[in-house]
Amino acid sequence: MSPDDIPGSDDPYRLPRHVIPTRYDLRLEPDLAGATFTGQVTITITVKQTTQTILLNAVDLVLQSAAAEDVNRRQFKALINLEQKTQRAGLSFQEPIQPGQWRLHLSFHGKLSDQLRGFYRSTYKDASGTLQTLAATQFEATDARRAFPCWDEPDFKAVFATTLVIDPHLTAVSNMSVTSESVESNKKLVRFADTIKMSTYLVAFVVGRMEATEPVWVGKTPLRLWTVPGKQALTLFGHQIAVASLKFFEDYYGIPYPGDKLDLVAIPDFASGAMENLGAITFRETALLVDRQTGTHAELERVADVVAHENAHMWFGDLVTMAWWNGLWLNEAFATFMEILAVDAWKPEWKRWESFSIARAAAFSVDGLVSTRPIEFPVHAPKDADAMFDVLTYEKGASVLRMLEQHIGPTVFRDGVRRYLRTHAYGNADTNDLWTALGTVANQPVPELMNGWIFQLGFPLVTAEVCNQELRLSQQRFTYIAQASIAEQLWQIPVQIRLVIGNRTEHRRLLLTERETSIGIPAEVTSVFVNEGGHGFYRVRHQVQLLERLLDQGLDRLASIGRFTLVSDAWATTVAGLTALPEYLRLTTHLKSERDKNVWAVLLDSFSFLNRIISSEDRGALETFVCACVKPAIDELGWDARSGESDLIRQLRGDLLGALGRLGNDAAIQHEAAERYRRYRKDPAAADSNVVPALVAILAHTGDEARYDEFLELYRTASTPQEERRYLFSLASFRHKELLTRTLARTINGEIRTQDAPFIVGAMLMSVYGRELTWDFVKANWDHMDRLFPKQGLRRMCGGIAGLATPELERDVREFFTSRKIELGGKTLDQYLEQLRVAVSFREREGDTIKVALLSSLQV
Ligand SMILES: [Zn+2]
Repeated sequence: MSPDDIPGSDDPYRLPRHVIPTRYDLRLEPDLAGATFTGQVTITITVKQTTQTILLNAVDLVLQSAAAEDVNRRQFKALINLEQKTQRAGLSFQEPIQPGQWRLHLSFHGKLSDQLRGFYRSTYKDASGTLQTLAATQFEATDARRAFPCWDEPDFKAVFATTLVIDPHLTAVSNMSVTSESVESNKKLVRFADTIKMSTYLVAFVVGRMEATEPVWVGKTPLRLWTVPGKQALTLFGHQIAVASLKFFEDYYGIPYPGDKLDLVAIPDFASGAMENLGAITFRETALLVDRQTGTHAELERVADVVAHENAHMWFGDLVTMAWWNGLWLNEAFATFMEILAVDAWKPEWKRWESFSIARAAAFSVDGLVSTRPIEFPVHAPKDADAMFDVLTYEKGASVLRMLEQHIGPTVFRDGVRRYLRTHAYGNADTNDLWTALGTVANQPVPELMNGWIFQLGFPLVTAEVCNQELRLSQQRFTYIAQASIAEQLWQIPVQIRLVIGNRTEHRRLLLTERETSIGIPAEVTSVFVNEGGHGFYRVRHQVQLLERLLDQGLDRLASIGRFTLVSDAWATTVAGLTALPEYLRLTTHLKSERDKNVWAVLLDSFSFLNRIISSEDRGALETFVCACVKPAIDELGWDARSGESDLIRQLRGDLLGALGRLGNDAAIQHEAAERYRRYRKDPAAADSNVVPALVAILAHTGDEARYDEFLELYRTASTPQEERRYLFSLASFRHKELLTRTLARTINGEIRTQDAPFIVGAMLMSVYGRELTWDFVKANWDHMDRLFPKQGLRRMCGGIAGLATPELERDVREFFTSRKIELGGKTLDQYLEQLRVAVSFREREGDTIKVALLSSLQV
């Protein structure tokens, strides 16, 4: 048979389609102490064309035997050939395998990995200080093949029947309910019910000493939270959102939860935030376990988001799955969109759609690069699949869905989603299937509208100008670095406009499909604001005269989301060189009475950017400027929470204090922080939980060796995952080089978990006090880090190079990555290097004038 006869076989990373698995009967026996496992799997397959070889995926496994059995129980042994590069096992048979049903028997063994992928080992210290081990899995994108041989592609959906053979004192969790437990030669055999037809990357097992909450029934589904022993007290908040969001989704999707139980399991070592394994969702501890009393608003919101996100996947991703990894956005953008929808319904006072603006802005910052990629992007090798887990897939994807939802209306949108899920349940789908379902229900040309946002790279900058009684809107692609070749792109942009006419406000909607368009507006219009509601995935440049009118009327006449987009867009165009820095700084002076934490997040982010590019001699001017901006708000808010205050204001107080003490380097604030921290250590109730991170960060910023040792000890003995993380990251925020060197050493000597270590290094690359030192450390230890850190962590760590914003460092960074031929998958490295270029070119363009601009803006 020639390869051409077998669809898919021309791509070395895709399996041929002439053999289709339908069922896996899997038995695994992990040895936690020895960090190994053995396994047997019987895979029921349908052979569609006569073949002498069967290809499936396996990597880092030893395959001991393989045989095919026909319906008459005759067995045919296979020769096994493992191909490392393509991660495939070829089974060759002496006689041709005829079309029909077969059962493939494979036995194998492997090692429990330390790389937080495949079937891997996680360790923790129990209450008595003894090191304990548990085994967990992380299969997405392509690591099920590290645990058992399989057709490891999302559209080879099958039923999985798992048996785990474990030590009797341990517990096992998998996708479905336990159907039986028995003891055989001193081992416990735990059998799980058959799964629904699903993809390999959603299979999961966790084995260890575990405790669970009492099951709570949500409709027909028992729901539990699992932790290692001693952490059950931290499950309450996660449990509440798990129950609330599961109910919400059953209602929204109009389809019952597709599994037979739902377990949410906190794992001490976990590479990403969480993983949506059907019925057995795994989390890093900070994403599931939190103390309601001591957690900050941001920490609680993070737990709520992640839990809701994973629950949303049970339908979007698990029940209906993308056909291939290029369509990953279908899973992730949707789960991100649904997460916000569910959390917003659960806690409307958190104004989750407003804070989603921060996520949208994060997507803009990558999508404004020349080296961005379209949301849907070709994927071949596993490395490229891994690189798809980025802000473009999640945050840009969710943003364009929100834009569409607002354009066609939330009810129509929901009905389209229901139709899509019903049509493709237990199967796979692609982008077009989604647009077809939404378009049919909406009775609108959804594909024409959306394809530009999904298949084109970048996003538009809409320029708004008023001339006579016309509002002229034009679009061009936004990039930080000007490029002639990008001029041709066009999008279909749903535009919402707010017109103020005297005391009255009017809203207009239009679809901008051409390069430019004009609409008539009444002569009495006093102000125009484009992208009302902030739902559009585009930036706006209001002509100077329009901006003046908005400022004259007072920015408080805009909704907070309007102020957010105005400031965020102004800052982006400033970085791109389209707005002069003094103009942006002048805008910030209009925000003295601002009390919205999202608007402040943009401002503080822009000040941090300036901090990274300003020369050390001029840093004092920036500190003065930051203090002048932030002080009025803190003078009013004070240090202590007031009764009746919203969670958002409490969080804002913490954010602003942290900025004053570090970026503003304000001595009085630093002094007060030390005093308040001393009181807090004696009595945790003495400080509002939202202020504590600021206290810790400020004291690290000003801290000496004694403080370092104190925080190190507090990291080691922390009682919640959030506290542990807070003190851990504080070790990256000291200014003394000697102390930072100690932190770096801890990232590779096994002291700091590899789930966290690359993020610490990444944060230190962004710190103006530690970046040179850290960069030298990365260069010297690259190979070691490459072996030690989870791949995903290593990639995120490299994002920190954007902080190395001096021309000398930039040259060195480029030279390092080129000479070492380092690849991070997809376009990731190109994007990091371009972000660095953007920062350095800003420095080259504005560096000499920043100080003057900062100081003169204070005189306004
Ligand atoms: Zn997800």
